[in-house]
Amino acid sequence: MSEKMLKFVNIEKQNPNKRNVKKRVDDFKEIYDEFIHNKAKEQSSRCSQCGVPFCQVHCPLHNNIPDWLKLTAEGRIREASDLAHSTNNMPEICGRICPQDRLCEGNCVIEKSGHGTVTIGSIEKYITDIAWEKGWLKPIKVTEEQNQSVGIIGAGPAGLACAEELRKVGYKITIYDRYDRPGGLLIYGIPNFKLEKFVVERRTNLLKKSGIKFQLNTEIGKNFTLEELKNKHDAILIATGVYKPREIDLPGNNLKNIFPAMEFLTASNRKGLGDKVESFDNGTLNAKNKNIVVIGGGDTAMDCVRTSVRQDAKSVKCIYRRDKENMPGSAREVYNAEEEGVEFIWLSAPKKFIGLKKVFSVVIEKMKLDKADSSGRKRPVPILNSDFEIKADLVIKALGFDPENLPKLFNNSNLNVSKWGTIKINLKSMETSIPGIFAAGDIVRGASLVVWAIRDGRDAAVEIQKYLEKKKISKIKAA
Ligand SMILES: Cc1cc2nc3c(=O)[nH]c(=O)nc-3n(C[C@H](O)[C@H](O)[C@H](O)COP(=O)(O)OP(=O)(O)OC[C@H]3O[C@@H](n4cnc5c(N)ncnc54)[C@H](O)[C@@H]3O)c2cc1C
Ligand code: SF4
Repeated sequence: MSEKMLKFVNIEKQNPNKRNVKKRVDDFKEIYDEFIHNKAKEQSSRCSQCGVPFCQVHCPLHNNIPDWLKLTAEGRIREASDLAHSTNNMPEICGRICPQDRLCEGNCVIEKSGHGTVTIGSIEKYITDIAWEKGWLKPIKVTEEQNQSVGIIGAGPAGLACAEELRKVGYKITIYDRYDRPGGLLIYGIPNFKLEKFVVERRTNLLKKSGIKFQLNTEIGKNFTLEELKNKHDAILIATGVYKPREIDLPGNNLKNIFPAMEFLTASNRKGLGDKVESFDNGTLNAKNKNIVVIGGGDTAMDCVRTSVRQDAKSVKCIYRRDKENMPGSAREVYNAEEEGVEFIWLSAPKKFIGLKKVFSVVIEKMKLDKADSSGRKRPVPILNSDFEIKADLVIKALGFDPENLPKLFNNSNLNVSKWGTIKINLKSMETSIPGIFAAGDIVRGASLVVWAIRDGRDAAVEIQKYLEKKKISKIKAA
């Protein structure tokens, strides 16, 4: 225990009630900050600087992890933060929500040798949070304004990263989003307990101060056509994400109190942001005192079960058709949910919903795993006569997301999409089938990760810049 902490504990023991509350909070914050600071330094110095940085290779942004760990260990936090920002537009966000066990930390050489990974994500969060606290992060100062403009559809991580990179080189940027706040799934999908909303808002505010324009409550396909947007700007990026919930067609599907995951999570996130949310306040989308059943085994399902726990649900059950080892979500998230008291019913699938107007139970069928299918994963098959019933006051379906029908929505059949509905791009230039229109993020990859959306946004910015430079030269030549 540090000297400061010992002193604090002694004072508390002697005089627990008499001390001024504010002073106690300040003392505690100081001790806590010191603890975190020492922890970050201690963890950073565990990096062996192994020379084969598998962590860096397996980070989608190829962050220069060993170097910023070394700087942190030496207490050179500002330089560490600058280095982290040179490859990542939102290091504090990735530090909080990347599935590090599958990316950087899962490939740390120290982890592989059985000594426990260096906690890369929390150090990335720490150095960037310090940079915010100290006021080191400033709006972009453009040295040479360009005459060309880019319209970006979607203010999620892909759109925001692309916007920031293009603004740095002086292009005029307008981001259009159908939501009332920028951030995409960072704001309305990922719950507050994983990613506090002020963390997203301070990023988007910095972009506003950098001269990037946000045109919110504006849906492309409804308020503007793609064609209109194309005529307004010199290049376009489509970064609209994937939002169509996958469905299961079961008897009783139309009963009340059965909702797709995004409706439940959006209501909870809006409430957390201080909005008036009638469906939450009247109990419809509120788990308090209810028996909750979540269907699905991915990270969205984990967010729903953990949100339900935080809303004081009576019980929370998660139904998944494969076993624990074959769950698609992050192992860490499943572990967290189990720790928080969520009951997992593995190898089971819903068969029907029972109720009178509202659902009151789910009939479940047990499954077993058969031979692997074309995807290489073992196929779940039902076990005959294995049905059982569980009580449910609210059912949340978290079965994944598909892209919306963009050619139809944008009324533009020239926009080529894959058989899954994702936008087809030239993998080198990131251009779609329509010249001057680029695409990035989940709408190209299918539901993925924030860190991949940032990577795509940055790559798209490089390609858009090349396109705009060529366009400018040909205009000059033609004049
Ligand atoms: C519940 C949930 C939890 C998740 N948790 C994690 C996690 O912990 N870690 C992680 O790495 N990833 C997580 N993800 C995945 C991650 O959020 C996405 O991969 C990432 O946000 C994709 O970024 P994007 O910019 O492509 O799209 P999005 O973030 O979806 O942003 C797209 C934006 O486009 C806007 N838009 C769509 N259509 C239009 C239109 N026609 N006109 C105007 N605007 C439009 C939308 O309003 C939205 O703001 C999670 C996803 C979900 C659903
Ligand atoms: S961006 Fe994600 S994968 Fe890369 S170092 Fe940070 S936490 Fe790890």
